[in-house]
Amino acid sequence: MIRFKHNPTVNNRVTYHFGFTKAYGRTFHNGIDLGAINSGVEGDPIFAIDDGVVLLTKEDSPTAGKYITLGHEACFSRFCHLKTIFKKNGENVKAGDIIGLMGSTGNSTAAHLHLEIKVGDYKDFWKKDEEGRYILAVNPEKMLLDDNIHWAEQHWNSLNKKGIKVSEKRFDDPMTRGEVFALLDRMIGKYYQNC
Ligand SMILES: [Zn+2]
Repeated sequence: MIRFKHNPTVNNRVTYHFGFTKAYGRTFHNGIDLGAINSGVEGDPIFAIDDGVVLLTKEDSPTAGKYITLGHEACFSRFCHLKTIFKKNGENVKAGDIIGLMGSTGNSTAAHLHLEIKVGDYKDFWKKDEEGRYILAVNPEKMLLDDNIHWAEQHWNSLNKKGIKVSEKRFDDPMTRGEVFALLDRMIGKYYQNC
């Protein structure tokens, strides 16, 4: 079971789920998006979610913009679209260290953090399947449950059964917001309760 020690952002406002969203014309979203404290305003601090080491930083990815990848004991995390990166390759980080500032670099329309959590070999972080999905873009909930059910499909199906079209759903809806926060709660563990 994987638990993280710190929230990735101050407010943890999820603007897009992991999985099969239709957001921005994509069919598969390989991370979760977290919005700024003030919508669209860059500069929120981005925190390391656990102790680890900086494996890679990049300043100019056409898609991910400025990003930083951390290696942890049980997984890897990648923080994309940053405005500024504060850490260097090989540097050790502690959970809660400010590793950068939220931005909108790369393929992004507004300030947000795109956070990916992956397990497996680091080299597999970048592998995609034939449909262009990162094959190890594992949903944190799936890791916690350690089952073989694809969480995103399950979630998508359950929302569809309720007649909710995910692509049109606003995340300030109480029901959906509750689900989102439940996910974050499981993802981040007890630390989320303290925020
Ligand atoms: Zn995203």
